[in-house]
Amino acid sequence: MRVATEILADVPTNLWIGGRWVTASDGSRFDIEDPATQTKIASVANASVQDCLAAVQAAADAQKSWENQTPRTRGEIIRKAYELIMLESERLAHIITLENGKSLSDARGEIAYAAEFFRWNAEEAVRLNGYYVKAPSSGARILVTHKPAGIALLITPWNFPAAMATRKIGPALAAGCTVVVKPASATPLTMLALIPILEKAGVPAGVVNVVPSRSSGVVVNAMLADLRVRVVSFTGSTEVGREILKSAAHNVVRPALELGGNAPFIVFDDANVDAAVDGAMIAKMRNMGEACTAANRFYIQAGIHDEFVKKLTARMSALKIGNGLENDVAVGPLVNASTRNKVVALVNDAVKQGATVLTGGSALEGIGYFYPPTVLINVPKDAAIVIEEIFGPVAAIQSFINEEDMIKLANASEYGLASYIYTDDMSKGLRVAEQLESGMVGLNRGLVSDPAAPFGGVKQSGIGREGGHEGLMEFLETQYVSCNW
Ligand code: NAP
Repeated sequence: MRVATEILADVPTNLWIGGRWVTASDGSRFDIEDPATQTKIASVANASVQDCLAAVQAAADAQKSWENQTPRTRGEIIRKAYELIMLESERLAHIITLENGKSLSDARGEIAYAAEFFRWNAEEAVRLNGYYVKAPSSGARILVTHKPAGIALLITPWNFPAAMATRKIGPALAAGCTVVVKPASATPLTMLALIPILEKAGVPAGVVNVVPSRSSGVVVNAMLADLRVRVVSFTGSTEVGREILKSAAHNVVRPALELGGNAPFIVFDDANVDAAVDGAMIAKMRNMGEACTAANRFYIQAGIHDEFVKKLTARMSALKIGNGLENDVAVGPLVNASTRNKVVALVNDAVKQGATVLTGGSALEGIGYFYPPTVLINVPKDAAIVIEEIFGPVAAIQSFINEEDMIKLANASEYGLASYIYTDDMSKGLRVAEQLESGMVGLNRGLVSDPAAPFGGVKQSGIGREGGHEGLMEFLETQYVSCNW
């Protein structure tokens, strides 16, 4: 097992502004903790308002020349970044595991996923197509083009420290925007480690700037008050998303918000139960449940319920728990004490209300924020664990009989990000998918994330999409010229 000093040997810990590593203007720093050992692993410069406005200035200075590069040049730089990330994937995966806690296999998966956003957007950079038509009534010519929106503020969460950054940086750079990235303060090291790679790939000074900060609200508000910032792309909780939306309103900054989720995982009697259990293990246990797309509520039809529960419990209880840096560990620690405390409180409340624990059910004692894979059955439909995001390795199972009643329950949430359906009857699967209020549906699949597909939610799960062609459009303004001659 590699140790922290070796993993972090070449990782920068200062602010990256205008192509230079700088300390915070007030000299302050904050500590990063390894959630498996609860020890300090690094101290990172803590950006002030002044530093963040300097980053906006650097982005503004670089904007014109970056947008004037040919799309092919931008695409090739982004493609190079994809290749370099893949070459360094093992080192980057270790950094993710060290600061976030997820298992190395999850971290390796995240790096491949993160890099793919660069490969995809390198290809998208040369497809900024517009169109030209004759206006039906006036006969004027309508010429439509897309232009870079301008400086984009990118705010990322701790659960995918690489992928949530590349999912924004890739399309922003492809569109011709310069960016300021504010990574989560629990996990800034991965983003900082990506900078030398972007530099080596040829990203010019000032095009990407990084400002870790413990004063997120204050620095984000200051940047959103700067008229030059034209896009805010945020991934995080719905609660903070609402605040960002309010701050963005003052200067009418375009918001792209990827927020919380409460995904239903539905298994019909006619499903292949083994495939459904495989899908459930991915949808529930990827990142130990610390994913916005994580299956949060399981609705299992009565005829298949007992077999599904038995098989899922066997798989969940067989997972090895431990420090994610050990190669055969599947379940690392949760990211911090408050995340684990929330899981503890939700499980205790569900049990108090009548749920039965089949495996797991209480936090592990000792060092590290560990919580074991847990299966609960007979979960009451109005328990907090069904209404709130668990963000932990807990499968909360309810049984259902009737399709229509189950759809009503599945839709009875303020969230609408992902849903999962297992059935061998495709017409039923598509019929139910159409009725679900969610931006993404996994039909006989436990994973919906794909850089080539539009990722995003409805209702209070967000506004806008990331990935696919739609992800690029978030960073482009449409201009129309009405022509006559
Ligand atoms: P969070 O607390 O909302 O934080 C997200 C980011 O916002 C962090 O960089 C954070 O900085 C910053 N922030 C916090 N308060 C802020 C404020 N008042 N103004 C501006 N920025 C602020 O979320 P998290 O705990 O990191 O991540 C978990 C949440 O993200 C879950 O709800 C999950 O569902 C959601 N998520 C959604 C998606 C999606 O694509 N829909 C993907 C991943 C995660 P600090 O770290 O310094 O506080």
